[in-house]
Amino acid sequence: MLPSSANVVVIGGGVLGTSAAFHLAEAGIEDIVLVDRGPVGSGTTPMAAGQTGYLNSDRFATDFGLYNVEFFENFEARTGHAINFHQSGSLRITLTDTYHQDLDRRLEVAADIGDDARIISAEEARAMVPLLAPTPDCRIMLMPRDGWVEPKSVAVAYAAAAVDRGVQFHTGIPVTGLVHNDDRVTGVTTPQGTLQANWVVLAAGAWSRQLGQPLGINLRSVPVRHQAFVTAPLADARPDQPIVRITEPQFYVRPEAGGLLVGGYGYRPLSFDMDNFADGFEIAALEADQVYYEQLQAAAEPFFPVLGDAVRVQDRRGLPTISPDGRMVISEPTGAKGLVAMTACGVGGIDRSPGAGRIVADIVAGREQWIDPEILGANRFGEDFVDDVALRARCEEIYAHHYHDVY
Ligand SMILES: Cc1cc2nc3c(=O)[nH]c(=O)nc-3n(C[C@H](O)[C@H](O)[C@H](O)COP(=O)(O)OP(=O)(O)OC[C@H]3O[C@@H](n4cnc5c(N)ncnc54)[C@H](O)[C@@H]3O)c2cc1C
Repeated sequence: MLPSSANVVVIGGGVLGTSAAFHLAEAGIEDIVLVDRGPVGSGTTPMAAGQTGYLNSDRFATDFGLYNVEFFENFEARTGHAINFHQSGSLRITLTDTYHQDLDRRLEVAADIGDDARIISAEEARAMVPLLAPTPDCRIMLMPRDGWVEPKSVAVAYAAAAVDRGVQFHTGIPVTGLVHNDDRVTGVTTPQGTLQANWVVLAAGAWSRQLGQPLGINLRSVPVRHQAFVTAPLADARPDQPIVRITEPQFYVRPEAGGLLVGGYGYRPLSFDMDNFADGFEIAALEADQVYYEQLQAAAEPFFPVLGDAVRVQDRRGLPTISPDGRMVISEPTGAKGLVAMTACGVGGIDRSPGAGRIVADIVAGREQWIDPEILGANRFGEDFVDDVALRARCEEIYAHHYHDVY
């Protein structure tokens, strides 16, 4: 039975909400309740490719990413629950001068922090990924610390670790609104009654923006569709091959169940207003855009000719949330003390979940934040993108250039 009060209420049991619950409990915060309208890991989280990647030409992203990669490398020691982190590295491949230069910047950052990322030859790449057909213009960088995880298992492991530390989980209960008193959020409403709280963590994925709106909170975080597909097993797909990310056509390929998982950006970006979906809509029911898949296949096939005859056995699609500058939003928005928005994780919420959870714990515990609060602050957009049309257009654009920009 849902209690009538708690110290902290977390809305949403995706990878972000469960990470927040774990990090809060680990920080010694007591009396935490997580509420999800479905089971844990039932939103966009289970649809993800689960890839991690921390080395960026943007120094903030690398510093933030270092916490994440170290967390994944030590997940079981940190939480008490194992996940299968396939740390087989990644190949980042660029085709043109502009993005060759991006690799140079990443190499400089790698040298700075003692990472042994390096440029490799097309032959070396093919030895690792036999199905890859690099073109002569390819420049290839190996990043050995990258990897991938089964995404739902991460949310499940955080949840188990949070339960071990005393967090209560209440699933099958939708939060219908935020309760507030002047400029302070004081709890949530549900069909089982009101739950009063000192803190509310808003980690409802695609629905976070919608939950804030009745209070006048304009979270600049918009759900944008992302799609990937999985092929049937292929003779030369190796389970331990590195992820391949090719910058200009913006697609990624990793091994999955004997075949390949292929996803990409820039293909028909489409944002959504969750008010236009019926109550009870679930991510699994999101309609597939077949043209997106056709364009993705056409972009990937020259580099992975085997895709021409491959049988597609699974579609993955969901609604990651995107901000106008591509960075996350993790902070108390103006006029909503006691509310911590945790959103706009982009197509990177699995990867960024450890660091995001840590920031939430810093805010609630009143600790100094390890990341400059301005960078991820909800108020950093000022009066920009107040209008929905402009906001959605900008977030679609950011999504469409995911591999072209750095955050
Ligand atoms: C095809 C695809 C590939 C991807 N690949 C990667 C990748 O390689 N690496 C990576 O890091 N990320 C990847 N992502 C992105 C990643 O999936 C998301 O960033 C992440 O899962 C978002 O997590 P979340 O917790 O914010 O949202 P969700 O997982 O959607 O969780 C939100 C939760 O809130 C609950 N909820 C919503 N409204 C309410 C309410 N009113 N009351 C109670 N509960 C509510 C939902 O039921 C849900 O459980 C990919 C996404 C897709 C679709």
